[in-house]
Amino acid sequence: MTEQVDQAAHDNAKHDETTHFGYRTIAKAEKADKVAEVFHSVATKYDIMNDFMSFGIHRIWKRFAIDCSGIRPGQKVLDLAGGTGDLTAKFSRVVGEQGHVVLADINDSMLKVGRAKLRDLGIEGNVEYVQANAEALPFPDNHFDLITIAFGLRNVTDKDKAIRSMFRVLKPGGRLLVLEFSKTDQPILSKLYDFYSFNFLPAMGKLVANDADSYRYLAESIRMHPDQETLKGMMEDAGFEGVEYFNMTGGIVALHRGYKF
Ligand code: SAM
Repeated sequence: MTEQVDQAAHDNAKHDETTHFGYRTIAKAEKADKVAEVFHSVATKYDIMNDFMSFGIHRIWKRFAIDCSGIRPGQKVLDLAGGTGDLTAKFSRVVGEQGHVVLADINDSMLKVGRAKLRDLGIEGNVEYVQANAEALPFPDNHFDLITIAFGLRNVTDKDKAIRSMFRVLKPGGRLLVLEFSKTDQPILSKLYDFYSFNFLPAMGKLVANDADSYRYLAESIRMHPDQETLKGMMEDAGFEGVEYFNMTGGIVALHRGYKF
């Protein structure tokens, strides 16, 4: 699918009561259930598939996000769409006993796997687990020093609403980090990546997790996600200032950072 078609589908979905689920157009009301099916299905294999699919590179992308977070001991962090808790584990160690990390996710299967993993790593005490939808965060205004959402935003039905909700619960001076698949503008890399995404990925999903459909959704949802500049504009529209982004792996992944002043 060309980028032009992607953009047209994205624009159409924005203006009516439909949205996209991968390349399919569905009613907005259906999307959360469909996304939930995907993550209930992959939860127990999620970590191993992440390492397989990215050849371990997701650890470097996450490390970069942590390095850009400016997080300090004693601070309050929301790891939104935190899933199995990779970022929470790191933040918990940095903020220490005086700090607090909330791992929030809409999906109880992912939270269950995350909680068990973090307990096994000896991470307890300063971490709280909350089942929540990014579009309607159940936290007070001006509460967190840092919010991260890693590989989560593209699954959210109303992304603008979710970004506004994140803005509300951030403290003035706080920052939002969005780590997400994005668009590469390198033609050869783009061709290789398409081949990998639509052939290798579903086949590996079938082999390791017995679930080709969820990994096909992953590839399609990445193509339908707003590109770097569009997401930057969405963050600015929600009130974020100083928004910038850093491309990684040729733009396959981008880290967006914005501040609430
Ligand atoms: N952040 C983790 C990581 O980087 O490994 C997990 C990312 S996983 C690809 C996406 C997560 O987003 C899933 O755990 C899913 O349940 C969660 N999610 C999807 N829609 C959500 C929503 N509306 N609100 C909160 N979490 C959501």
